[in-house]
Amino acid sequence: MRDPDAYDVLIVGSGAAGLSLALALAARYRVVVLAKSVATESATLYAQGGVSAVMDHADSVESHIADTLAAGAGLCRREAVDFIVRHGRERIEWLIAQGVPFTTRVSKSGTVEFHLTREGGHSHRRVVHAADATGRAIEQTLLERVRGNPNITLLERHMAIDLITAGKLGRIPDRCIGAYVLDLERHCVRTLAARCSVLATGGAGKVYLYTSNPDVATGDGIGMAWRAGCAIANMEFVQFHPTCLYHPQAKTLLLTEALRGEGGHLVLANGERFMSRFDERGELAPRDVVARAIDHEMKRLGLDCVYLDVSHKPRDFLLEHFPTVYEACRQYGIDITRDPIPVVPAAHYLCGGVLTDLCGRTSLPGLYAVGEVACTGLHGANRMASNSLLECLVIADAAAQVIANALPNHDAIEGIPAWDESQVTDADEEVVVAHNWDELRRLMWDYVGIVRTTKRLQRARRRVELLHAEISEFYGNFRVTGDLIELRNLVQVAELIIRAALKRRESRGLHYTLDYPRQDDTNYRRDTVLRAGDFS
Ligand SMILES: Cc1cc2nc3c(=O)[nH]c(=O)nc-3n(C[C@H](O)[C@H](O)[C@H](O)COP(=O)(O)OP(=O)(O)OC[C@H]3O[C@@H](n4cnc5c(N)ncnc54)[C@H](O)[C@@H]3O)c2cc1C
Repeated sequence: MRDPDAYDVLIVGSGAAGLSLALALAARYRVVVLAKSVATESATLYAQGGVSAVMDHADSVESHIADTLAAGAGLCRREAVDFIVRHGRERIEWLIAQGVPFTTRVSKSGTVEFHLTREGGHSHRRVVHAADATGRAIEQTLLERVRGNPNITLLERHMAIDLITAGKLGRIPDRCIGAYVLDLERHCVRTLAARCSVLATGGAGKVYLYTSNPDVATGDGIGMAWRAGCAIANMEFVQFHPTCLYHPQAKTLLLTEALRGEGGHLVLANGERFMSRFDERGELAPRDVVARAIDHEMKRLGLDCVYLDVSHKPRDFLLEHFPTVYEACRQYGIDITRDPIPVVPAAHYLCGGVLTDLCGRTSLPGLYAVGEVACTGLHGANRMASNSLLECLVIADAAAQVIANALPNHDAIEGIPAWDESQVTDADEEVVVAHNWDELRRLMWDYVGIVRTTKRLQRARRRVELLHAEISEFYGNFRVTGDLIELRNLVQVAELIIRAALKRRESRGLHYTLDYPRQDDTNYRRDTVLRAGDFS
């Protein structure tokens, strides 16, 4: 009889990347999908805008490519941009075939077509969406298909701890052969063997104090890949959204940029507007300029937040155009028709990640990475809006094809040792984890945020190294918990961001440092690739 914990493919993550990959492979193979929370909880669920693809005859693939390259500030991999953009339409059609209810409209000639929106950086309307909750529509539709597929096992509340590699077991050739996984309900560690494994774990926004990301975004895939010896690239490029609600109870409420587009003012507590001091376009300046200006004012004046004020707009207008924002703020006692909304910029998207080719292959045989966890070269130094879901879908499909072709060459894996808990006890002081978690996110926010300096980065590096040592010791001595696993990954991600930022002695795209304020194409028009041997 077959070992119940042995699968053809292990997919860690149930967002757009993981689910679409699972569906593509399940026709021929036995797939297991892990979600460390409930399966829907993912960045995918919260994506509002949509998926970019060339769907309009007035638009062109060349234009989408040119816009993406311009946003990426000289660091996009041309081949990746070309590949992903060219497959956009086909992936949208696949989503429609799965049942995703994208918003349509009736054209002047009476035909039904997809309603397309236009977002920052795009020179055409090319964002396909499902009202203002596109991610929810994608996540729920794909999940329903996954749940109905007998070849896919979905394990919710199962958190991957580490990848298992043949090399670490003293076998050759080295390849990924599965993962140790904590069952968060039963509090036991399971050994999952797989002929191929895929990281689809999403981003790492939780490494910063303020983030638009859900709680699951703790960079686990990057931490696991790094420990397994994979190359990690471009970690210095973190995209910050300028306006998230600042409220003790509101974890991740993003305030759409349309509020500024419709005339909202950014003000200090005394009502003074400040954006014109930074950019002649004022509140309509691009996302990174606005985020930088807010950060500057907060640091200069030691503020907890600034305010986004739309109260001068007619009440009916606000209720008609921003019903979701109105309702969400009202829950926290803020009436946007009367009160300025307290806001902070927040970590939103990680352009860097596990270095892969265009089929999701990492530098470790048998291991693939797809979605926000990966760095394919599409985004370069700055992500263009709505290109990330596109990347998830296109690379998942390409990865499915190479995995399906590769599987017949890989035998089932046997003899993986069980997780060893003989040397550890239950933690005596959980406060250590909670304290380090808070300290890490605060120091990343203060020293490795939107505007950087070498001095702040060096200070952050020293502190993160101390935290890293303490967390490793804790991990070595005590039984694993979900919080500890995530903290261990967060501190690793923090260290990689800091190392990468220190290496880039220029300002480019999302990486801005006061010590090197200009872009230096002579020396730095290249990826920052980190490998385990580069530093201990
Ligand atoms: C608020 C918000 C709005 C956005 N809007 C858009 C938009 O309009 N258009 C766009 O293109 N992009 C948007 N993005 C970005 C986009 O949503 C993400 O980049 C994309 O959804 C990532 O998908 P993913 O499948 O890679 O990861 P996710 O959707 O984040 O899924 C990650 C999965 O990995 C699982 N996981 C993580 N670690 C582990 C572990 N150790 N063990 C087991 N499971 C694990 C999680 O449980 C989860 O299931 C937005 C992001 C946010 C936060």
